[in-house]
Amino acid sequence: MSNQFDIRLSEHRRPAEERERLLENPGFGKVFTDHMITIEWTEEEGWHDARLQPYGPLSLDPATAVLHYAQELFEGLKAYRQADGSIVTFRPYANAARFNTSCQRMAMPPIPEETFVRSLELLVDTDRDWVPTQEGHSLYLRPFMIATQRGLGVNSPSSSFMFIVIASPSGAYFTGGVKPVSVWLSEDYTRAAPGGTGAAKCGGNYAAAFVAQAQAVREGCDQVVWLDAKEHRWVEEMGGMNLFFVYGSGSDARIVTPALTGTLLPGITRDSLLQLAPDLGIPASEGRISTDEWREASASGELTEVFACGTAAVITPVGRVKGSSGEWLVGSGEPGPVTTRLREELVGIQYGERPDSFGWIHKTG
Ligand SMILES: *Cc1c(COP(=O)(O)O)cnc(C)c1O
Repeated sequence: MSNQFDIRLSEHRRPAEERERLLENPGFGKVFTDHMITIEWTEEEGWHDARLQPYGPLSLDPATAVLHYAQELFEGLKAYRQADGSIVTFRPYANAARFNTSCQRMAMPPIPEETFVRSLELLVDTDRDWVPTQEGHSLYLRPFMIATQRGLGVNSPSSSFMFIVIASPSGAYFTGGVKPVSVWLSEDYTRAAPGGTGAAKCGGNYAAAFVAQAQAVREGCDQVVWLDAKEHRWVEEMGGMNLFFVYGSGSDARIVTPALTGTLLPGITRDSLLQLAPDLGIPASEGRISTDEWREASASGELTEVFACGTAAVITPVGRVKGSSGEWLVGSGEPGPVTTRLREELVGIQYGERPDSFGWIHKTG
């Protein structure tokens, strides 16, 4: 499709004072901007009817496919205000590529990467006053796609879809600053199995995860850690974030993250750290880490830090670990120097305070 959007500006943009008040303490994913993007897809016409329009409810027939069979997927990335007032996004083409990989798994039509990125640019530029200026705040962008065919038949994927982008000014993802989280190793539930949808960013993965997250909280932990489906032994991810293990310290520190086996979500933050860390003199590799190794290497002191990473919370240290075989601390239980360094470097690139030697920054508004 051509990247022509029909522009319908809101007549009810919130006044500046109200916007300023909402931007003071936006939380995460609670406040939304004045506009959204919608693009339709049908078998006959492909992608068409691209629009920028006022943010508001969708009207869906109760028999719409997504409401019954969850044919849905999403992305998440942020727009960052730079010191000079301009706005950038971080690796938006990587999100576009992952979106299309997810589409393939979910039998949904891919969207041209240029259209995906153009949608983000148009929405950010229209609602640019909603991009926070406060330190550490950003505009969270949520592109997603839903199956819109009406009918309850299950023999084929939907014949129509809608791509939507909404935007939400956001403060810190985990309230209380960069504090280590405690994690529960989930053996009763599995996030993803071989051949399943673990590598696709689809809402269904999250629907199936809430029960395990609730169990983690009952066990006195902040977050759930997912293990492999077969042996419940190999570490995969933490909630909606990837994990890194720091071995050694000082100039001997190196980081390891679980390899992408097809059941993990290939995080863009994860990929960025695998490139960034070696650049800073910290060797990085993909590997296989068992819960036994996690416990034993923590006890021996060989494992010095563990952190989780993702777009929403950037980098979050993991302090305490609890599972069926007991409970232990990683390092001192406080944020470690490697975790802190990587966080500062990555955030520095995103806010334009550090050179972007990888070409990750995309000027967006
Ligand atoms: C989105 C997501 C991540 C992190 O991906 P980023 O691209 O780094 O934000 C990790 N795990 C799961 C399950 C996710 O949905």
